[in-house]
Amino acid sequence: MSNYLHPHIPIDTQMIELVEKYGNDPERVLEMLVELQEKSGFLDPETIREFARAIQLPASTVFGIATFYSMLATTPKKMGKIRICDGPACWLQGSQAVHRLLEQKYAHNTHWEVERSSCLGLCDHAPAALVDDHQVGPLPAQEKHLPDDPRKLSLSAISYVTPRKGETRVMLARLGKIDPTSIDSARQLGAYQALERALQMKPQEVIQELENSGLSGRGGAGFPVGRKWRFVAEAQRQPKYIICNADESEPLIFKDRILIDSDPHQILEGMIIAGYATGATQGFIYIRGEYPQQASILENAIAQAEKNHYLGDRILNRDFSFHIHVHRGAGAYICGEETALIESLEGKRGEPRLRPPYPPAYGYKGCPTLVNNVESFASVPSIINKGAKWYQSLSNWRTAGTKLFIVLGKVRQPGIFEAPFGITLRQVIEEFAGGMLPGSEFHFALCGGAAGTLVSSAHLDIPIDYQSVKDGISIGAGAFLICDQNDSPVAVLQQLMHFFALESCGKCTPCRVGTHRAYQILTHCVNAQSNAQEINELAELARYLHDASFCGLGQSVALPIESALKNFAREFSEKISPQSAYTPSL
Ligand code: SF4
Repeated sequence: MSNYLHPHIPIDTQMIELVEKYGNDPERVLEMLVELQEKSGFLDPETIREFARAIQLPASTVFGIATFYSMLATTPKKMGKIRICDGPACWLQGSQAVHRLLEQKYAHNTHWEVERSSCLGLCDHAPAALVDDHQVGPLPAQEKHLPDDPRKLSLSAISYVTPRKGETRVMLARLGKIDPTSIDSARQLGAYQALERALQMKPQEVIQELENSGLSGRGGAGFPVGRKWRFVAEAQRQPKYIICNADESEPLIFKDRILIDSDPHQILEGMIIAGYATGATQGFIYIRGEYPQQASILENAIAQAEKNHYLGDRILNRDFSFHIHVHRGAGAYICGEETALIESLEGKRGEPRLRPPYPPAYGYKGCPTLVNNVESFASVPSIINKGAKWYQSLSNWRTAGTKLFIVLGKVRQPGIFEAPFGITLRQVIEEFAGGMLPGSEFHFALCGGAAGTLVSSAHLDIPIDYQSVKDGISIGAGAFLICDQNDSPVAVLQQLMHFFALESCGKCTPCRVGTHRAYQILTHCVNAQSNAQEINELAELARYLHDASFCGLGQSVALPIESALKNFAREFSEKISPQSAYTPSL
C-alpha cells in the first residue's frame, strides 16, 4: 500500500492489517476507528494521522469523523468506560447524584473512566449506564450497594410478556412466546410466512397491499410507507438499497430495543419483503452504538436467516437475492435523520444533506434508497399475512394500525405497550399505566419524545396521532413522560435543551447557537436568575429554530419550547422577578 500524503513516513504493519481487514474501504472508517480505539481507550492524534495515511484519506477528514461521534475520544481516556445516562427518565430518577456516586467509587481506579452520556435507551431501567458493552440499571443510590468491579452491575429483569389491559399486539405479538435467538422458535409462530406469501405476489401487488393498509412511517413524520416503497420501486437507477433506521437515540424512546430483543426476525422479514418489492438487493441496519447487545442479536438472526435461505442468494429458490449488513453507529443523535444516517453509513460525519433530492431518488452512494425505521419494518409481515383490511380495522381512528407507546415517570406501571392510534393521554395514564403513583397528582406531561410537546391537564382528552400536534399534543416517536406536582416543566425543558445543545451537529447557525442560548436562558430560569426579556428571547429563538434550521432536529426543538411557554406561562413567571412578569406572546 502506498503512503498517501506522507510517502516518507512508514505505516505500522498492524495498521495496514486493520485497513486490509475492512477491505481498504473508506466507507468503513467509523468501524475501523472504533476498533482502533479499543486498543488504547482513545484515538491520539498520531494514531489518527497514521490511520489516515493507511486508508488514504486526508488526516483532516479522519479528524473530522473522530471528533463527530460521542463514543470516539481524541483526548486521553482510560480503557474501561462507564457511561451514565443523563436522559430525562434517568435524570428524574436521580442520575446526577448517581453519577457523583460512581465517580467517587470508580474514577480513582486506573481502569475506569466515568462519563455522562445522552439517553441510552434504557429508560425503563433508570438510572442506567453502559459499562463497556454491558447495559446496566437501575443503578443503586447508595455507595455501599456498588460492587468493587462495575462489571458486576446488572440489568434488572423487566417483563412485558403479559399484555396490559386494552393492548392490541401486532408487533409485540410474539414477545415472550419465542426464543429470539432461535429461528426455529420464531418459525413455529409464523416467522417468514409473510415472506413466502410476498414471493408469490408481484412486487407491485406487495406495494399496493401496503398502500391499502394505510401504514404510516413510525419515525415521527408519519409519511405513508407504501408510497415511499413505490418511489424506490419506480426509480430507474440500480443498485437500490434498503436501510433500517435503528439509530433510536431520542430520549425516552426504547421501543426498537424491545422489538429487537424480542423478535429480530420480524424486522429482517419486513426488510427482505421491502427488498423484493422495490428491487433492492442490499440492506443495512444502522443501529446506534449504545445498543451493542441488540446489534449482536441482529447479527445472530441474520446468520440464521442466511442458513435457512431467507437471506442471501436465490432466496427460497426464487430469482431474488438480498443481503443485510449490521452497521453500528458511534454515538450521534443526528444520525437518526435519514440523510445524516446515509452520510454516516458512507463513512463520513453524520451531517444532514440538503433535500431534495430525497433518498428514494438519491440516497446511499447516490442510488435509490428506502429508509424506514424498525417499527415500520416490524409492521410489514402482519400486513402481508393478514391483509390491508385487517390492518385498517385495528384502529377506529383516522390513522390505521397500531403503534408502540412508552410511558414513564410518576405512574404505577411504566413501560411499553402497543395500542391503536387515537388514544388519549388520560387513557395512557389511567388505563395503560395503572394511574399516578400514590401521592402523585398529574401536573404535566412531555408527549412524543424530546422533540415533543409539554402539555397540561387541558390536553388529557385529545385523541393522539400524527395530526394531533395541531391540537397541541404530539405523538412523535410515541413516548409520554408523566410528571407530578414536584416536577417543573421549566426544569424538564432545560434538560431537553441540554440534550439538543449537545447533539446539534453544528452545521447550521440557528441550531448550533440557538440550542445553546436556549439552554443558557433556561438555566437562568431554573436558578431564578432570568428576566422577562430573556423569556421573550426564548420565544423568538424558537421561531428562528423552526424557520431557519437546516434539518428536522433544529426545527423540532421549537416544539417543546413553544408548548412550554404557552402552557406553563405561570411557571416561567414564577422564575423571574415580579416586576418583569412574563406575558406569553405565542
Ligand atoms: Fe445540524 Fe442544523 Fe440539523 Fe442542527 S438543524 S442538527 S445544526 S443541520
